[in-house]
Amino acid sequence: VVSIKMTSQWSPPADDFSIYYVLTECTDYYDTLPVKEADGNQPHFQGVTGLRNLGNTCYMNAIFWCLCSISPLVEYFLSGKYITTQQDGQEFLIYVLNELHEALEKVKILQESITTETSIITRLFEGQLSYCIVCLKCEKRTYKNEVFTLLSLPIPSEYECSLQDCLQCFFQQDTLTWNNQIHCSFCETKQETAVRASISKAPKIIVFHLKRFDSQSTMKRKLRTDIHYPLTNLDLTPYISPIFRKHPKYNFCAVVVSKKLLKVTQF
Ligand SMILES: [Zn+2]
Repeated sequence: VVSIKMTSQWSPPADDFSIYYVLTECTDYYDTLPVKEADGNQPHFQGVTGLRNLGNTCYMNAIFWCLCSISPLVEYFLSGKYITTQQDGQEFLIYVLNELHEALEKVKILQESITTETSIITRLFEGQLSYCIVCLKCEKRTYKNEVFTLLSLPIPSEYECSLQDCLQCFFQQDTLTWNNQIHCSFCETKQETAVRASISKAPKIIVFHLKRFDSQSTMKRKLRTDIHYPLTNLDLTPYISPIFRKHPKYNFCAVVVSKKLLKVTQF
């Protein structure tokens, strides 16, 4: 069962905040967002049309309507035969962003655009982490960069914590020992290593995924921790490399909540 709720059009506040964050969240609570009741006077055309033109989307709607009238195709998707494993919200988000990015890149090639400008997806969502890796024997430092569009944050408490606690946990120094040792190019063997991540490029819109499934235990256990998050001014300054620091403060813009009803997970 999939339900899609369109909330009233969101527009950024008039002040100078130009960056927002998105939280992909997974809890057992009922979604309490107010939903606009359908206008009783409006006739319903269920099964005939149903997709509103959002400006320039009529061509997409028309194609969807056509596809929806091809019975074998509809039956296939309604039968659930295509489902192998249920996607998590954050996996689907990454998939959609990647597809949008690829599509925009193709348009650029088709238009023979010589501009080197990156896609809107990259410009909004892409950030970069810098890992500082220190060999605990020779103390030599190496750096490794990694691009991200989503940060998967651990949850450090069973009962209650804040989003900032999760961030602190993610960015704290990690010591890699035993099987996790890293090869040191100076010692030329595997050594115990200290690793610390920091943000070297803060994206305009940052997406967090909260790891509610405890990967430490052998049983897949869900953490039901209450996590508080600020609606304005989430300060990421402590986690940004000093040389790249621009004191970004993020305002909350969206949350994805999943809840389990019988055996179906609803978003
Ligand atoms: Zn070393």
